[in-house]
Amino acid sequence: MYDVKGNLRRVRESLPEGVKLVAISKYHPDEYIMAAYDEGQRVFGESHEQELRHKVEALPKDIRWHFIGHLQTNKVKYIAPYIDMVEAVDSLKLLREIDKQARRHARTIKVLLELHIAEEATKYGLTLDECRQMLDEGEWRTMEHVQICGLMMMASNTDDEVQIAREFQTASDFFDEVKARHFADDDNFRERSWGMSNDYPIAVSHGSTMVRIGTTIFGPRVY
Ligand SMILES: *Cc1c(COP(=O)(O)O)cnc(C)c1O
Repeated sequence: MYDVKGNLRRVRESLPEGVKLVAISKYHPDEYIMAAYDEGQRVFGESHEQELRHKVEALPKDIRWHFIGHLQTNKVKYIAPYIDMVEAVDSLKLLREIDKQARRHARTIKVLLELHIAEEATKYGLTLDECRQMLDEGEWRTMEHVQICGLMMMASNTDDEVQIAREFQTASDFFDEVKARHFADDDNFRERSWGMSNDYPIAVSHGSTMVRIGTTIFGPRVY
């Protein structure tokens, strides 16, 4: 097996204090997750509802699962009983549905708003203006079962480190703007989820508080 424990230790040692690690376990088998678990890792990220459902049933109950992929509104009801955080909220409609399903289970679900900053034409994420508009309109303030904990984004998939750094900085500046305007009194709004295997050292030097790392810990994914 891949040296999951050694890789996890090395990643942890490379992270500054206060930066949280979400181990991205999608497409990796339960044994790999258990190896990381045995090293003390408790937060894992998955991007497919069915795969996640199987893992939730098979693996220890004190794992906190983050949903990191694009989440269809009709899938929210399946993950609402147990999901700790939905990282990629990219519409008001999705936020409403999470609130509604969390209420049915008498829970509060933590969420991040996903920004679309990368230059490539990925489909998902709010533009900065869409995010501003959604927060200004204020409906989210009436939702008692979601806790908006910060922002999430992916940088462009490029070797151009200057561009990657610029995108993380844009996200970081935007976080400061939104924090001051809407969440100045809300200590829960503090997470900046950016940085993956290829770019997390750049991310942590541009304000990241939460990195999402898969390949560097678990090796290449087998699809
Ligand atoms: C798969 C994935 C990751 C992890 O990517 P690695 O390159 O394997 O570290 C992080 N964030 C999101 C949203 C992902 O889908």
